[in-house]
Amino acid sequence: MCVPTRYDATREDLAELLADQPRFRVDQVLHGLYDDLASPAELTTLPKALREQLEAALPPALRIATEKSADDGETTKWVFSLADGAMVETVLMEYDDRVTACLSSQAGCAMGCTFCATGQAGFTRNLEVGEIVEQFVVAARAARPRRLSNIVFMGMGEPLANVDRLFDAIRRLHGDLGLSARRITVSTVGIIPGIKRLTDFELPVNLAVSLHAANDVTRTSLVPMNKRYPLADLHDACAAYVETSGRRLSFEWACIDGVNDTDLAARELAAFAIPLKAHVNLIPLNPTPGYLVRGSTLARVREFRDDLLDYGVNATIRRTRGVEIDAACGQLAAEVVRERIALRPR
Ligand code: SAH
Ligand code: SF4
Repeated sequence: MCVPTRYDATREDLAELLADQPRFRVDQVLHGLYDDLASPAELTTLPKALREQLEAALPPALRIATEKSADDGETTKWVFSLADGAMVETVLMEYDDRVTACLSSQAGCAMGCTFCATGQAGFTRNLEVGEIVEQFVVAARAARPRRLSNIVFMGMGEPLANVDRLFDAIRRLHGDLGLSARRITVSTVGIIPGIKRLTDFELPVNLAVSLHAANDVTRTSLVPMNKRYPLADLHDACAAYVETSGRRLSFEWACIDGVNDTDLAARELAAFAIPLKAHVNLIPLNPTPGYLVRGSTLARVREFRDDLLDYGVNATIRRTRGVEIDAACGQLAAEVVRERIALRPR
């Protein structure tokens, strides 16, 4: 870790930092950080000198590089720069019945999915616990007066490739920030050891698997990790999750013209999903600079959904948010990639 930031600090760290203060200060600071989502500088119940001391000792993890909004202010995207200059993105989406934030788990991603802007940009590093938790805090503050009710780990990075920090961050969100684990969804490309860890995890978080194809040849061409964790093994790991957790599994499927939106693809997906009673989320593909195949038309996505429904699969089309600000999940790093491609020597 570079420097521990304010949401990395444990109760013990705070007790050490506040050793020369009255005992109640630790609870005061914890209450401020976790219940009021306040920065140390905003803790007006503390003496001014102490506020300044804490602000310096517990720096923020995230500096806002850009903030954009779309969909009449119902979608907000932040690009944050971290202490070492790495960049991550977070999106807040307000719906009638819930407020969801899409958080990043890594700066970049090493999984190399061909159609994904983050995959095209490559891997920078894992995020620390405080860097994950603070994304929640910024989004929850911006959501006020509404309550941030749901979290999806569908931003930059592969959460199950950073599983220890991810779990610690989820423990903080659940235990300290009052967000029920049932309202947290971890999306994975299909890292089987990580799915097993999630199956055994003490908190009941939801699992979404980014499937995109239900035959190994097509899936490996889209998701290179499929070579290491092929569909038969993925199916077994998903079955164990469903059986052990009793929770619903969902599959993500970005519809790509002629690649995974055919009648055959629907049959393969149905055969894979039905025994797992999985829900399928169809996402219209967002265009990215490094992948030139088009997304399916909305008409084709609807037909594909109807085919799935006819086969008895529970399938819905996900409404994409913030397309004009590149805020759609999986699309988060698009601008950064565009810049990098523009800078590449010819
Ligand atoms: N690494 C994790 C979570 C981050 S990606 C995962 O892959 O699941 C979040 C979601 O966005 C995944 O379902 C991913 O497949 C999807 N996605 C990535 N690029 C996309 C694109 N260009 N269009 C639509 N969905 C995309
Ligand atoms: Fe990584 Fe997910 Fe993008 Fe694949 S889709 S490259 S796993 S962020």
